[in-house]
Amino acid sequence: TRTHDEEDLPHATKKTMADHLRKYESLFTLTPQRMRMIVEAFKDTLELGLSKHKQTVPMIPTYVFGWPTGQEKGDYLSVDLGGTNLRVCLVTLEGEGKFEVTQTKYRLTEEQKQEEGQKLFDFCAECLKTFVDTNLQDENSGLKLQPGEKLPLGFTFSYPCTQERIDHGELIRWTKGFGAPNTEGHDVAAMFRASLEKFELPIELTALINDTTGTLIASNYVNPKNKIAVIFGTGCNAAYMEYVKDIPKIHDVGIGLDGQMAINCEWGAFDSFEHEHLPRTKYDQIVDETSNKPGEQAFEKLISGRYLGEILRLVLCELIDEGVLFLGQNTYKLEVPYAFDTAFLSLLESDPTDELLMAIGIFTHFFALETTLAERQFFRALAKLIGRRAARLSACGIAAIVSKMGYLEEGCSVGADGSLYNKYPGFADRVHEGLQDVFGDKGRNIVTHHAEDGSGVGSAIIAAMTKARKDAGIY
Ligand code: BGC
Ligand code: MG
Repeated sequence: TRTHDEEDLPHATKKTMADHLRKYESLFTLTPQRMRMIVEAFKDTLELGLSKHKQTVPMIPTYVFGWPTGQEKGDYLSVDLGGTNLRVCLVTLEGEGKFEVTQTKYRLTEEQKQEEGQKLFDFCAECLKTFVDTNLQDENSGLKLQPGEKLPLGFTFSYPCTQERIDHGELIRWTKGFGAPNTEGHDVAAMFRASLEKFELPIELTALINDTTGTLIASNYVNPKNKIAVIFGTGCNAAYMEYVKDIPKIHDVGIGLDGQMAINCEWGAFDSFEHEHLPRTKYDQIVDETSNKPGEQAFEKLISGRYLGEILRLVLCELIDEGVLFLGQNTYKLEVPYAFDTAFLSLLESDPTDELLMAIGIFTHFFALETTLAERQFFRALAKLIGRRAARLSACGIAAIVSKMGYLEEGCSVGADGSLYNKYPGFADRVHEGLQDVFGDKGRNIVTHHAEDGSGVGSAIIAAMTKARKDAGIY
């Protein structure tokens, strides 16, 4: 018997939607066997990045030397220029893994991401000035500065930067859709310092850090079992602690070969340009070709929040072209690139109603489209395929670091952050499932969990560690 819905839209019968789904299932599903192949290639890539400069996955030495003691104390400012927001924080480290944070968030516009780099940093400094004026001039805050005194600042700049010191970093390339001219190839710490001067701020940029490095240090500060940090947000990336002796491309960093240094992997670049290892569908290829950085960030484009909605939208557009979906309706709103937010995938997957009311809401409200139940079930199943693939590929990256570092036997915990990890239903469970597909039962030894705020707290701890080293006369 046919349902009422299907009579209205004869082309979208349950049977045809199920047929279509089967095709996408085979395109987006990653077998354990395939995952293990990806892990092997990933491991080789990590090693290559450690041994030679200028590799696709750059494995960046961060000049963050070793773990925090947990006793770091004091007041620190941090500015976090992320993919979506700009955040200014005042962090008070209280020692014993405790801290307090006061923060203000500003949304970045698409225009700001494309304007002159120096203007972007000026905007960061301006927000910082407003924050300092409102939060630090308070009679009771006890933070009033002595004449000539400067507050230490950690600048969390979550894009790949080559570092020669902790307070320096040359932008290799923008990611996450940023394109501000006159910034790639420049020292962004120096650019930000120029902006700080323009606004006459009594602030000293102590450390330039990546969000993953911050997350690594912050999550270890509260729990020393945390040895790896990952971000699954607008972009994706990982950091871990490496032995200096195992970083052949740098020789003398002044701490001896026994020392340790955090590595910002920039793994989002895995398989860029060559596209030899990752299973890319034609939708992934379109996402790549129409991006502002074709060829780049190949791994990230299959995983991160900036792209998942777009992948799903491209599948829907294909089915519109084939005359399968939304027959007789005007689909122009759905045909706009990036119109389908990754948050919609989360909503589709978490919808608790049998009618899939959430999906009705999304399609009528944002796209002025009517849907049948069979179609909505298809959308949900598609979201699941795309979200699950992202989580399983993420597991491959984690597995590569775990296996390279030999953490499987003793186990380790992985501090994770980012909108996808925090908000996408079941993302963490799927990562864990993926780890078991790669490692078998032992995969259970590797557990991810929500990490402390690396870009704020982590950045403050690193600023504190750096200051302690400087005070002690160690570079
Ligand atoms: C950037 C990384 C960053 C990650 C997560 C990527 O696009 O290249 O530096 O850690 O996004 O924010
Ligand atoms: Mg962030």
